[in-house]
Amino acid sequence: MRLPKFEYFEPKTLEAALSMLIEKGSDACVLAGGTDVLVKMRNGRLMPKAVIGLQGIEGLNNINFDPAKGLTIGAMARISDVVSHPDVMKRYPALSHAAGVMANVQVRNMGTIAGNLCNAAPSAENAPPLMAMRAQVTIVGPTGARHIPLDQFFRGPGLTKIEASEIMASIFVPLPAPRSGASYKRISARCGVDIAAVCVGAMVACTEEVCSEVRIVLGAVAPVPMRAPKAEGIIQGQKLTRDLVEKAAAQAAEESKPISDVRATADYRKKMVEVLTFRALEQAYERAMKL
Ligand SMILES: Cc1cc2nc3c(=O)[nH]c(=O)nc-3n(C[C@H](O)[C@H](O)[C@H](O)COP(=O)(O)OP(=O)(O)OC[C@H]3O[C@@H](n4cnc5c(N)ncnc54)[C@H](O)[C@@H]3O)c2cc1C
Repeated sequence: MRLPKFEYFEPKTLEAALSMLIEKGSDACVLAGGTDVLVKMRNGRLMPKAVIGLQGIEGLNNINFDPAKGLTIGAMARISDVVSHPDVMKRYPALSHAAGVMANVQVRNMGTIAGNLCNAAPSAENAPPLMAMRAQVTIVGPTGARHIPLDQFFRGPGLTKIEASEIMASIFVPLPAPRSGASYKRISARCGVDIAAVCVGAMVACTEEVCSEVRIVLGAVAPVPMRAPKAEGIIQGQKLTRDLVEKAAAQAAEESKPISDVRATADYRKKMVEVLTFRALEQAYERAMKL
């Protein structure tokens, strides 16, 4: 199907982009890599009169690692640049892995991590590892900037806390705590080329013998990427044993709320939440022990 008619703007600054968003109102749509937007426009699910492309804004594609604070990913940083960034590979291997196994090379070369989050698919693959690693997003609007923890960002399928007059400027991932590790696991019907049917991000931090912090985030099994707090509670403050990890994985499956659709049945998804949570916790713990 052909694209519907629209006006295209390419502002040079974030301020100009925000002014345009306000001027064009609900008829406007922000464009990053376009891998979701253009597909929706082609099949008639999105018909903006004005499209505001962010690629002309200088510095928005930066990826910066500060050894004292953490990682900042600009909203226009391409997925493939995040995958191969040396600091991301070394300090945030779960994120590099999640971004590297999603979609295909063409989509990763065009798409952005910010676009993946703003699109707010329940299966958005970068959400679970980023949420597990305590990421927060910076959103700019007419009244300035605000920061939202990613685990409070999603409101439902396709819905986020971003208002119509706002733009996501960056994603911040704090420096991993000493003796902590994170992991991302996914399963799809056709290996890499298909959107995940289930995905899981996990982060484990250890003090002495016990697990001082754990975060388990499930994707594609609820209207939004979700934490599994009861499963986390099974491990928190405990010495990590295989038995405990198995119990936490089973609890995560209990907490998930999957539906059946073209990708998988609800029953299969629940079973896979258990399997993937076990594997993600196991790998996160192994990584924590290596640091
Ligand atoms: C063939 C194919 C395979 C795919 N496979 C996967 C997959 O395996 N896993 C997966 O998770 N996704 C997959 N996707 C979805 C898509 O590629 C990702 O969601 C991608 O990361 C979107 O990024 P983008 O920069 O292209 O966003 P865009 O399409 O430009 O934008 C997506 C949405 O976010 C909004 N937006 C973008 N940037 C901002 C911003 N800075 N501030 C405010 N709003 C913004 C846009 O207005 C739009 O609503 C696939 C898509 C295709 C076409």
